[in-house]
Amino acid sequence: MTDQIERTTEATFESLDPRTGAVLATYPVANSAEVEAVVARARSAARWWDAQGFAGRRRWLLEYKSAIARDAADLAAVIAAETGKPSEDSLLEVMLGVEHLDWSARNAATTLRQRKVGSGLLAINQKAYVGYRPFGVVGVIGPWNYPLYTPMGSIAYALAAGNTVVFKPSELTPGVGVWLAEKWASLACPHPVFQTVTGDGSTGTALVESGVDKIAFTGSTATAKKVMATCATTLTPLIAECGGKDAMLVDSDADIGAAVEFATFGAMGNAGQTCAGVERIYVAAPVYDRFVSEFTTAVKALRPGGTTTSSYGPMTMARQSEIVRGQIEDALARGGKAVVGGLDSLHGPYIDPVILTEVPEESTAITEETFGPTVVVNKVRDLDEGIERANASKYGLGASVFTGDTAAGRRAAEKLDCGMVTVNSVLGFAGVPALPFGGTGDSGFGRIHGADGLREFSTVKSLTVQSFAAPVNLLTMRRKARNMKLSVLALKLRHGRG
Ligand code: NAD
Repeated sequence: MTDQIERTTEATFESLDPRTGAVLATYPVANSAEVEAVVARARSAARWWDAQGFAGRRRWLLEYKSAIARDAADLAAVIAAETGKPSEDSLLEVMLGVEHLDWSARNAATTLRQRKVGSGLLAINQKAYVGYRPFGVVGVIGPWNYPLYTPMGSIAYALAAGNTVVFKPSELTPGVGVWLAEKWASLACPHPVFQTVTGDGSTGTALVESGVDKIAFTGSTATAKKVMATCATTLTPLIAECGGKDAMLVDSDADIGAAVEFATFGAMGNAGQTCAGVERIYVAAPVYDRFVSEFTTAVKALRPGGTTTSSYGPMTMARQSEIVRGQIEDALARGGKAVVGGLDSLHGPYIDPVILTEVPEESTAITEETFGPTVVVNKVRDLDEGIERANASKYGLGASVFTGDTAAGRRAAEKLDCGMVTVNSVLGFAGVPALPFGGTGDSGFGRIHGADGLREFSTVKSLTVQSFAAPVNLLTMRRKARNMKLSVLALKLRHGRG
């Protein structure tokens, strides 16, 4: 938490290394008064930040980006320590975060600069413009699974759009949030444009109630509902980036080797703790057996653990293991089969890879987010049945389609009810800064990343400037009957034919 704020309680919490349980550091649990003080500082900085204009903000943000990139290894070490993920994965996360910071800084002006629009026949005497203004102060609440990449999708885009930001990182990864705020402070920016407050859900609630002008929340669907209820009391706008149950569809003409490679990464990477990771795989009947056999071989070669060479790390949040266990139990009880691993794959904070097949669609392994290295592979007749099953979920974050015919893949993408689709890869959308990121249904609403992500952190300002008196003025209390007649005639000529 910013050291400019006087503490009013002594409450603290510890961040732990999930690989060992060792205490990494102790952080304050910011209470309402402290959060309000931080938000007040952010508000005082908002006017200055807005006045920097697009060019000024771009300079600051690119400087920030460079400072992060120079210290990438240091930040990656904090990510690895707090999440337990291998250092290469942590570095990859820093690379992605930096790309987004760069893109948002460079593209804010072209996206948000005031632009002229056609004024139409009725208002021919007006010049019309659309502009985008910052909200003021944006509160960002983040999760632990990608503690840099995920919140950076809000922080960078909100800052580039001219807002100041108060960030509440997950209580499992406070060090990443503090690192980011300290790095910003090291730029010698004269105002507290970006600050971090640490704490648990109570600090998150305090941020939502603090009078910020918008909340960007990333986390579970259940918490998003609570956040939305709190936002409703003050009509505070909200972006909700929540959980997923992403499906991968494998068509009969797909490159099975490539599909297996991506499925292994998409389902097991980061121990399955990826919001848009692969959790369900629907494979067309003609290639089902081959896919399962090759996938089984690939997954069996993975080694979870706490070393730099491990395939993936531990469950960052210990109690998530119980959810994974419950889903495996439910799938097996309903007649599903474990072709790799099973209940004995869970040991300590680690879970060995699990592949379940022939799992009934009503099983929780299909209906609920798993967030572990466990995946279901079910047989479908063809791509259409795969789409139908993928769409049966209450979640709608991402999906992937593997096919030999990319045109068919694009047609399938159109039919999938979700926010993001990738053809012949997984998570392809996450690394393209120009592509909006977000979902539908229980996966939330609103978009981060891309031009839409910049607009998400802006309020729209419409403007007309009258350039000459209207030849036929209808906006008067002394409207002339002749003008009305002419207008009705024009209405019929323009819209009443055909
Ligand atoms: P979570 O919902 O438990 O917590 C998220 C954040 O909300 C934390 O910072 C927490 O302290 C805070 N919080 C908790 N209660 C709160 C309250 N009442 N008011 C305000 N804030 C509160 O989620 P998590 O376990 O940290 O993250 C995992 C979830 O995040 C998964 O469901 C995952 O799919 C999702 N996720 C989604 C995306 C996406 O972009 N869609 C990205 C990453 C993670």
